[in-house]
Amino acid sequence: MSKKRRALKDRLAHSNALFGSRTDIGCIRERNEDSLVVSPPLFSVADGMGGHAAGDVASEVAVRTLQSKAPDSADVDALGEAVIAANHAVINEARRAGLQGMGTTMTAVIVDGDRLAIAHVGDSRAYLLHHGKLQQLTRDHSLMADMIEAGRLTPEEARHHPNRSIITRALGSDPNMEPDLYEVTASAGDRLLICSDGLSSMIEDEAIQSELARIRDPQRCASALVNDAIAAGGLDNVTVIVVDISGDSLMQQKKHVRRSRAWFIAIMLALVTILAGAGYALYSYTHTAAYLIAENGKVVVYQGVPGSVMGLEMHWLDHETDVSVDDLQPGVKSRIESGITVDNLDEANNLVSDYEAAAASKKAAAAKASSTSTTATSTSSSTVSATTGSSSR
Ligand code: MG
Repeated sequence: MSKKRRALKDRLAHSNALFGSRTDIGCIRERNEDSLVVSPPLFSVADGMGGHAAGDVASEVAVRTLQSKAPDSADVDALGEAVIAANHAVINEARRAGLQGMGTTMTAVIVDGDRLAIAHVGDSRAYLLHHGKLQQLTRDHSLMADMIEAGRLTPEEARHHPNRSIITRALGSDPNMEPDLYEVTASAGDRLLICSDGLSSMIEDEAIQSELARIRDPQRCASALVNDAIAAGGLDNVTVIVVDISGDSLMQQKKHVRRSRAWFIAIMLALVTILAGAGYALYSYTHTAAYLIAENGKVVVYQGVPGSVMGLEMHWLDHETDVSVDDLQPGVKSRIESGITVDNLDEANNLVSDYEAAAASKKAAAAKASSTSTTATSTSSSTVSATTGSSSR
């Protein structure tokens, strides 16, 4: 894939659904012989035929060759040459693998802003929804299309005709096969539909038009159309690609790619800067903050902050103190039990010193009170003794 196409693919892939696609085996077929290309600006559907798995091979070989040969812009002649190369590739593969009779349709579209280049062979189709009206862009190479044009059948009769599957041009048989080429100028807001006959043979154009107009998201729209075909019987493989036409030229889209990348890089740099700043601030805070808490009846000092971030503990033990929690004032005791956070270890150690001093003062006061009580008792006993002595005298 060229750099230009890869850049455009990236833009479309990240522009929130400018296209959608889905392929499904349907209800009665044993395998899905449809293949598709969703590789902006190239979109394609190939409907293989030939039985015994040869249809798979034909459509796969065709789309693979198309992808390698298709132009990057809406050069319809170059796109036609890519389809011719795909035809030769299918013929060569049939010879090499002994799969005579296999073939495939191919409807290939390059979407370059509002310019569409289309190369078409067979009865897969390209449609354009323009101002809510569905237009078929390609003409089927089929017996039914010829008979309808000759006035021998109505489209409704063709839908149920036993020869409705006969196609008059395909990849894989005639080395001189030429695709039909179309150049279409669409409008911003138009919607391109590429599909295999598993959709167009099962669903009326009016119903397809209605779904394309009703469902804004192209991926949901593609999925809904496939569901409709299956609900209608799913008699064939069904493949749908829906592309919203942005109206931007290829050059404009490339500018958007560059602008989007510049914005993406700027936003990522800003996010990295913010995260790095926040991380540094958190690191600094946890390496300077401290807290005190009660453990095993004693006051202990931790550096950091309580709790954890994403399972990572943000603290570590600094030291245990000799301060007994029971020696603290009741108000301080309850705060210590739930933890007291301070700005740094110095503040924590100052608090510990205060608690030690308060505890020592409390013990001294208790000792003094005990001593006073003992002296008073002793004095009282002497008085009693003196009184007793005097009396005995
Ligand atoms: Mg089919």
